[in-house]
Amino acid sequence: IVTKLPAVGTTIFTVMSALAAEKNAVNLGQGFPDFHCDPKLLEDVTAAMAAGHNQYPPMPGIPALRDAIAAKISAQYGHTYSAATEITVTAGATQAIITAILAVVRPGDEVIVLEPCYDSYVPNIELAGGSVVRVPLVPGSFRPDFDRIAAALTPRTRAIIINTPHNPSATVWTEAEMRKLEELLAPTDVFVISDEVYEHMVFDGARHESVARFPGLAARSFIVSSFGKTYHVTGWKVGYVAAPAPLMAEFRKVHQFNVFTVNTPMQHALAQYMAEPKPYLELPAFYQRKRDLFAAGLAEETRFRLLRSEGSYFQCVDISAVSDLSEAEFCLWLTREIGVAAIPLSAFYGNGFDQRVVRFCFAKKDETLLAALERLARL
Ligand code: PMP
Ligand code: GLN
Repeated sequence: IVTKLPAVGTTIFTVMSALAAEKNAVNLGQGFPDFHCDPKLLEDVTAAMAAGHNQYPPMPGIPALRDAIAAKISAQYGHTYSAATEITVTAGATQAIITAILAVVRPGDEVIVLEPCYDSYVPNIELAGGSVVRVPLVPGSFRPDFDRIAAALTPRTRAIIINTPHNPSATVWTEAEMRKLEELLAPTDVFVISDEVYEHMVFDGARHESVARFPGLAARSFIVSSFGKTYHVTGWKVGYVAAPAPLMAEFRKVHQFNVFTVNTPMQHALAQYMAEPKPYLELPAFYQRKRDLFAAGLAEETRFRLLRSEGSYFQCVDISAVSDLSEAEFCLWLTREIGVAAIPLSAFYGNGFDQRVVRFCFAKKDETLLAALERLARL
């Protein structure tokens, strides 16, 4: 058949998780926690189901959850979104991103992505009929290159997708970088899709710079976040989008036909849970400790060169001193022969660019990280 996505195969996360399971490897590839969420959250789900919250919720999400999201964004970032018209609960960040893209991107529109980037962005743009404009992050540091972004802007640019904290590089944009983006876009009508799923995983005292903090960006942005990341429940597939009312109206036109609603009991449970003391405030320290444990082990036991992990739950390493294999071959070899799964950064580039860097996920129990380190020490 004539395929709409000729370049697309099975995602690297599926491939590496399947191989890790087959080889009984420690899976530090696909990003998900191997520990439980707060038991209170599970009780809230059971309670919601028992209370009969098992039928379709309102299309944009239950009001209590949208209220909780709006209150949280306002408290964290100082921008107040209307729960009624500016927040929609989504089936994870994945559905949020494709819905935002389908809502604004028309055939022939250009959309800027900053490479390396999360693997769903490019196929999503292509499904919308848009043209993908790839702008590299600065090689080595993975910082945004504003001269190149400026050079990529044309009258046909419809949107730019940004992601901080960044998957896969684990960089976190600074306030100055956000201001530069705000200035750069000021004379344009370009929308921003801001993937902020790792908003609560920022280390070493830095803070997450949500577009919500910058009025010139907030006015043109869809903010995407994910309860899966924040509450250790990636399999629930619940997230949300915040955007100014006119943008959200367009978003909801698509949302009501690509998913219509998101599962009801989880929404009630999350609304209930968000009324509690705020567990996400502990996430930076929680994940920084895991980063430090894992990074110290890698530094002591292996010849990998560590890249700085400023945020997210990923640690990237340069493999040059350890292997001559390409990143992709190295990850297959590491899973099969050493018993640790990782993700090659080349999977986040359209042309498979290989810079000898692979990504490990440290959202794991300490014992899992130590088991992986023990195996990696053989390298
Ligand atoms: N964006 C980024 C940058 C991600 O890392 C992920 C999850 N791996 C997603 C979006 C998708 O999030 P969700 O699981 O909530 O769909
Ligand atoms: N976002 C996760 C990662 O980057 C995985 C999500 C997925 O499996 N699609 O590892």
